[in-house]
Amino acid sequence: MIHFRAGFLPFAGRKPDEIIPETKLNIGKKSSDNKGAAEAKSSVKPVSSSDFRDHLATADREGRRQWIYPRKVQGKFFRWRTWFSWLLIFIMFAGPFITIGGNPLLLLNIVERKFVVLGQIFWPQDMIIFAVAVLLFAVSILIFTTAFGRLWCGWACPQTVMMEMVFRKIEYLIEGDAHQQRALNRAAWNVQKIAKKFSKHSIFFALSFLVGNVLLSYIIGWRQLYQIITDPPAQHVTGLAFMIAFALLFYGIFARFREQACTFVCPYGRLQSLLLDHYCPVKVLLTAILFR
Ligand code: SF4
Repeated sequence: MIHFRAGFLPFAGRKPDEIIPETKLNIGKKSSDNKGAAEAKSSVKPVSSSDFRDHLATADREGRRQWIYPRKVQGKFFRWRTWFSWLLIFIMFAGPFITIGGNPLLLLNIVERKFVVLGQIFWPQDMIIFAVAVLLFAVSILIFTTAFGRLWCGWACPQTVMMEMVFRKIEYLIEGDAHQQRALNRAAWNVQKIAKKFSKHSIFFALSFLVGNVLLSYIIGWRQLYQIITDPPAQHVTGLAFMIAFALLFYGIFARFREQACTFVCPYGRLQSLLLDHYCPVKVLLTAILFR
C-alpha cells in the first residue's frame, strides 16, 4: 500500500484509502472479484505502486525527505536553455531600471495600490481592466499549456531558471557532480566538508539576498529600495524586515525546498495533469523528432 506523507501535508501519514475511498482512487490490492470486473470494464487502469503519480519523488514512505541529486545535463537543447536563461536573468535584474515614458517597465506597488505594466499606470479605479486582463491571462495560460506543454516550466519559470541555471551550477562548481555531492553528504564532517558547505551556503544566501532585493524593487521601485539601503536603518524598519524576510525565503527555497515548490506550492504545477495529455502538439512533435 502506498503512503502519502511529507511532513506538513494535511493528510500526512494517512493511507490513500483513508483520504479517498479506494474505489475512487483505484489504488492497492483488488479486494474482490466484483472490483476486478468493474476495473476490466472501466477505461481507468489500476495504478501500479511503481507509478510516479502515487508517491512523492522527494519523500520516502515514512515521509522523510529524499534529497535529489540530479546529474549534470548536457546537449543541444540544454545549451539553448542556458543561453535563453541568461537572457531572462539579465531582463529580470535590469527590469527595475528600465523605464517607458518615465514609468517603470513593471511595478506592482501593493502598498500604494499602483500597478505599472509596460509603462502604463493602473490605479484601483482601473480594476475592471485588470480583471479582464487577468481573465484573458488565465485563459491564455490554459490554451498555451494545452498546446505547448510545460514549455514555460522548463524554459522560462523564474524558479527553474534560478534553481537550475544559477544555484545548481554553483553547487556543481563547489561540491562536484551528483555522485560527488552524495559522497560529500554521507562523509563525516571534516575541514574540507565544512569549507565546502560554508562557502556554498554563504554564496546561496548572498544571491538570495540579491534576488530578494530585485523582487522588492519590482514592488516598491528601485529608488525607494535604494533609500532603504542608504538611509539609517531606524528610518526603514519595515523595509529592512521585508528585505531580510525575502532573502530568507529565497534562501530556503533554493537551498532546501527546491523542486518541492513545483509539487506542493505552485498552482500551475497542480494544473498540469488537467491540461496535458498524450496529444499535446509539442509533445507529439518532439517525440516524432527525437524517436524517429
Ligand atoms: S510548476 Fe510552477 S514553479 Fe514549477 S516550474 Fe512550473 S511554473 Fe515554475
